[in-house]
Amino acid sequence: MARTDIYNPSSDHQALRELVRTFAEREVEPQAHEFNAAERFNRPLFDRLGALGLLGITVDERFGGSGLDAVAAVIAHEELGAADAGFTLSYLAHAMLYANNVNVNANDDQRDRWLPGACSGAEIGGMCMSEPGAGTDVMGMRTTAVRRGDAYVLNGTKMWITNGAVSDTELGDVFLVYAKTEDAGGKALSSFLVRKGTPGFSLGQRLKDKLGMRSSPTAELVFEDVEIPAADRLGADGRATLCMMRNLELERLTLAAMSLGIARRAIEIMNRYASDRQSFGRPLRDYGQIQRHVAESYAEFMAGRAYVYSVAGQIDLTRAGNRVDSDGVKLYASTMAKNVADRAIQVLGGFGYMGEYTVERLWRDAKLLEIGGGTLEAHHKNMTRDLQSLERIR
Ligand SMILES: Cc1cc2nc3c(=O)[nH]c(=O)nc-3n(C[C@H](O)[C@H](O)[C@H](O)COP(=O)(O)OP(=O)(O)OC[C@H]3O[C@@H](n4cnc5c(N)ncnc54)[C@H](O)[C@@H]3O)c2cc1C
Repeated sequence: MARTDIYNPSSDHQALRELVRTFAEREVEPQAHEFNAAERFNRPLFDRLGALGLLGITVDERFGGSGLDAVAAVIAHEELGAADAGFTLSYLAHAMLYANNVNVNANDDQRDRWLPGACSGAEIGGMCMSEPGAGTDVMGMRTTAVRRGDAYVLNGTKMWITNGAVSDTELGDVFLVYAKTEDAGGKALSSFLVRKGTPGFSLGQRLKDKLGMRSSPTAELVFEDVEIPAADRLGADGRATLCMMRNLELERLTLAAMSLGIARRAIEIMNRYASDRQSFGRPLRDYGQIQRHVAESYAEFMAGRAYVYSVAGQIDLTRAGNRVDSDGVKLYASTMAKNVADRAIQVLGGFGYMGEYTVERLWRDAKLLEIGGGTLEAHHKNMTRDLQSLERIR
């Protein structure tokens, strides 16, 4: 058996990586080009992740999950991301933004009612935070939840919701929705569990023609006088900001892990091509400019990989408090992946520009990681604020 290391800190992590890599190479990679080109979500393939125990990877075993840690989540996202980042984005929205969020912030009655279906794949989940008028400025959201007896009435529109739809016309199944409680101008956020079929909850539109991540459906969702039982509010009234922050840390870490998968794949492709392709009678890898593309990409990838796994090893899924580095890994790894994919296109020349050679898709998918889950500028802002009190780096 191979020795454990920072990327595979235990034999269980090694076994998980083998399992996901084999599945990704055999099942996910072969469908990636077709489903991305057609902007189709591969629901049957997604359901297979349930049988592998990946859909509830960090969810308690009592509720149908696998009970694994943040390193395991990073391994799954790196391996799937190397095969099809769009498919992996839908996996992330389901397993991290919905299932892990419910697992950490719900009570046992809610976990019993909302998690087993998500862990098996019977229900696909998503998380609704962003709005047409409020993304980075999340506290500027305008969706409201007004208490009426034993229920809350939700009104508002959510934008860019991954898994908000599963086809052009069909809603996703279950959602964690953030809304303002008390008064709309205040800072009190609450979160609610909402199921497809609840009166007043509808698909505004499926958002098509994205630059990348095209095998992951994105949607606008509309809430018009949607009545939600108070029993489906997560945590205390007005106290969801901490839950949101806690979940954003894991979101950013696993988006960084997807970036690693993208970069790794791009390096493997350009490295092979640099040997196979001849120019002026010699392989491309004999030329200094090509050597720079390959060598710098590898070194930047390895630096990003070490950063992501060292942060993953320190993250406690039940607590917030790692914002500098969960922002830091995504800030570094997303741009690293985009630059590496860009160099891979350059090394492949005209072929690099063509879908068949994959690297152009890697570049398009990587660009989303500089925007979704927090823009680069949001990471700059958060990190600089948190680093204000830093005197020395240990
Ligand atoms: C494919 C896709 C999937 C997504 N999935 C989800 C999902 O599942 N759930 C969800 O809730 N959201 C989702 N999002 C939304 C995503 O998180 C937001 O797009 C992102 O947070 C940026 O918000 P915005 O688009 O409103 O841009 P804005 O916040 O309007 O930003 C526009 C530009 O201004 C900059 N900017 C804004 N404020 C400042 C500032 N104070 N200082 C400096 N620069 C600033 C930004 O960095 C950016 O460059 C998704 C988005 C995409 C594209």
